[in-house]
Amino acid sequence: MRTVTVVGASLAGLYAARALRAQGFDGRLVVIGAERHRPYDRPPLSKDFLARAPGAPAMAAGARSPSDADTLALSDADAVTLSDAEALSLSDADEDAELAAEWLLGTPAAGLDTAGRAVLLADGRRITTDGVVIATGATPRTLPGPPRAGVHTLRTLDDAVALRAELHAGARKVVVIGGGFIGAEAASTCAELGADVTIVEAAPLPLVPQLGREIAQVCARLHTGHGVRLLCGTGVKALRADGRGDGDRGDSGAPPGTTTRRAPRVTGVELADGRLLGADTVIVGIGVRPATDWLAASPLALRDGVLCDQGGVTALRQVVAAGDVARYGELRAEHWTSATEQPAVAVRNLLAGTTVARHTAPPYFWSDQYGSRIQLAGHRGPKDTVRIAEGSPEEGSLLAVYERDGEITAAFALNRPRPFTRLRRRLGAGRPAAPAAPAGAPAAAPGA
Ligand code: FAD
Repeated sequence: MRTVTVVGASLAGLYAARALRAQGFDGRLVVIGAERHRPYDRPPLSKDFLARAPGAPAMAAGARSPSDADTLALSDADAVTLSDAEALSLSDADEDAELAAEWLLGTPAAGLDTAGRAVLLADGRRITTDGVVIATGATPRTLPGPPRAGVHTLRTLDDAVALRAELHAGARKVVVIGGGFIGAEAASTCAELGADVTIVEAAPLPLVPQLGREIAQVCARLHTGHGVRLLCGTGVKALRADGRGDGDRGDSGAPPGTTTRRAPRVTGVELADGRLLGADTVIVGIGVRPATDWLAASPLALRDGVLCDQGGVTALRQVVAAGDVARYGELRAEHWTSATEQPAVAVRNLLAGTTVARHTAPPYFWSDQYGSRIQLAGHRGPKDTVRIAEGSPEEGSLLAVYERDGEITAAFALNRPRPFTRLRRRLGAGRPAAPAAPAGAPAAAPGA
């Protein structure tokens, strides 16, 4: 292969570029990114980055998200004031030079010409290529209706900068729509900043499909225990807005003295059950959809992601996929760790021209909320039972195991990183032995 093009310049895209060079590819390497930024780390966007006042000291450049139990603890002396993009950067100048990639940033890919072996860019350019790695991630779902100032999604650095500016400018009433992990983390950070926070969740309880009812309840109590209201079982009927656009606040990019009109500003959220919640800021966390629109005219199979085999190989041998956009068999993970593990496997198969390697590591996810660390690993099924093997919700620290036919399928921890990590390793090695139940622990409960 003389040219490989990676589409998506974020986590999976960077790991694919690294894997290509590490596996001996010395041809032309092109990385295409819709965002104008070099690859940066997303997990801090809903956590430390949002909590930090604009301009405050940031994490050091090149810092990585903890894929395991370790959190990055930087003392004040270690903290470096950097621009926002640099602060979250996943690579440094030395690595960029080593990768020797051509970065085409700020222009999305608009299509794949498989007959002509080219990636087409929205600005009309055409990159002739022998191999393609699809790493375009996912895009947040939005509410129907016209745009409203003060309504945010949280996926990109630009999203986070806009939301952060508003929160630190004194937004007092925040409504978070959706109680999934992103919504939960955003709610936690807003509460930490002193806002009055309400989460609206359409399901009877957030996260039941991911965690089962019993453990979802443990997570729900984190919100209520920190003064965040959790309104479940009701959807959003409409957003209320002030009916007039704001004048130019000086940050619209318009020439000085010009007045621009913005979308009317949100003032509240009307719920399906008739309640009206006042809001200065609304954060919409209702899930994502894989970023596959640009592939709609391609012969690739698209069904909740780019369909691949367990090695990331699509219907076309010279096209592989990795990260949030990729569906490996039945599973499309939206986790940092999968986006760092899959590219090496996919690239190996791309260079081999066939599937010689498979990604088999169990999915792993962590989330930080209200000073607590949540971790989940494995393949939990809807009928699995769950039992608490160590600790308890009352202690604010527990390890739970999900089981099916006498075998552990998944593990969950709240502030219990060490035993969790041991169990996760054993899950990765296959068929782990169950930790003994603590004395007096409740019997197994259905996981869902
Ligand atoms: P993305 O990071 O989504 O990157 C895809 C890139 O492709 C984007 O830059 C996008 O602009 C670009 N792109 C899209 N379409 C095109 C196109 N047509 N042409 C060119 N480029 C395109 N995971 C955890 O495990 N733990 C956490 O605590 C955690 N916290 C998170 C917090 C937030 C706020 C977010 C948003 C995510 C979090 N995640 C977390 C998830 C994790 O960040 C993702 O799983 C990871 O970023 C996926 O990487 P990716 O490269 O596949 O996709």
